[in-house]
Amino acid sequence: MCISSHQPINCIEKACMLRPLEAPFRYLFGPGPSNVPPRVLAAGGRPIIGHMHSEMFGIMNDIKKGIQYAFQTSNNMTLAMSGSGHTAMECAVFNIVEPGESVLVAINGIWGERVAEIAERMGAKVHTLVKAPGGHFTNAEIEQALAKHKPVLFFLTHGESSSGLVHPVDGVGDICHKYNCLLLVDSVASLGAAPLLMDQQNIDILYTGSQKALNAPPGTAPISFSERACHKMFNRKTKPVSYLLDMTHLSNYWGNDGKPQRIYHHTGPVSGFFALRESLAILAETGLENSWKHHTEVAEYLWKGLEDLGLKLFIKDKDLRLPSVTTIAIPEGYNWKELLAYIMKHHQIEFTGGLGPSVGMVLRIGLMGYNCNKANAAMALAALEDALKQCRKSKA
Ligand code: PMP
Repeated sequence: MCISSHQPINCIEKACMLRPLEAPFRYLFGPGPSNVPPRVLAAGGRPIIGHMHSEMFGIMNDIKKGIQYAFQTSNNMTLAMSGSGHTAMECAVFNIVEPGESVLVAINGIWGERVAEIAERMGAKVHTLVKAPGGHFTNAEIEQALAKHKPVLFFLTHGESSSGLVHPVDGVGDICHKYNCLLLVDSVASLGAAPLLMDQQNIDILYTGSQKALNAPPGTAPISFSERACHKMFNRKTKPVSYLLDMTHLSNYWGNDGKPQRIYHHTGPVSGFFALRESLAILAETGLENSWKHHTEVAEYLWKGLEDLGLKLFIKDKDLRLPSVTTIAIPEGYNWKELLAYIMKHHQIEFTGGLGPSVGMVLRIGLMGYNCNKANAAMALAALEDALKQCRKSKA
């Protein structure tokens, strides 16, 4: 090949790449990602090893134990997805449900909407139980819908981060099993912040994300399947629509299928797994009960401070408030986008607005894991107080 006849032409693009990477420091007090502690960042910065090296398999085995502790489960089929929370959502639905089967989805915010769409795309018959953001479902309502639609899977969001609600889970697993249905629970925003006990609460499939209370970088997602769930997903007539998310392969990659050899399936995010292992180690050192208690104490301090500022919390019932993500009804007379932009510009703090059906209804403050302390809550309150003073005049 003649090099001189192959001149690169994209000089503008190249000039852009000659500038150094810029990633400013921000206080991530939104619903995630959360700031990552130096110890977890350092773990992610360790030299890469091969994704199929024996040391890596050892680290993956540790991650599995860490997830079993965090989820309070003895499920063998426990692993971390190479991907964000959505990857775990899709993995659960794609592996459990076959096209044409019936699925029931509780929608009280954006996450139910997402799962309903994922299930619809893979050809499931989707039924929904719907409440406005902030609403929750009684066990009697759930039972009625299960009896009517006879789904193979029921989806419930434990920590509804778009509305700030923590949904009761007690008894739901038993009701599902009465109707021969599996219970899928999303704990992306609640794991480590609010009590959830996978085995005791009879949850069949539970997943979370790395970037919330676990404080690892985004991009890995713990998931676990009960024996019941394994029986359904490994006895299907059709193959799951996704090769990448097929649990037959993933269970081998994670050494969960009892086979003597692990065979290449995909290249896992090695640095992401290092960081995830470290974040699970921190949770184990802290202890789940301490972590739940700490999140509740800091959240209560924040809630009191917000009420002292004259603000209204979106979730009225204290027991249904998600400790990791607090939702505030948008104060009357204010433009919520202006408030958020002011706080970002003058305090380098990220809060966010609503998401999906809660857009225009709420402001969201998340204090999770490493970020969860009273000093940060005080900083968040001071920034909000300042914004409420400074932004008032800008409202038409
Ligand atoms: N479920 C809940 C409750 C969440 O809060 C999020 C992330 N905000 C997700 C699922 C999706 O996770 P990810 O953005 O990591 O895909």
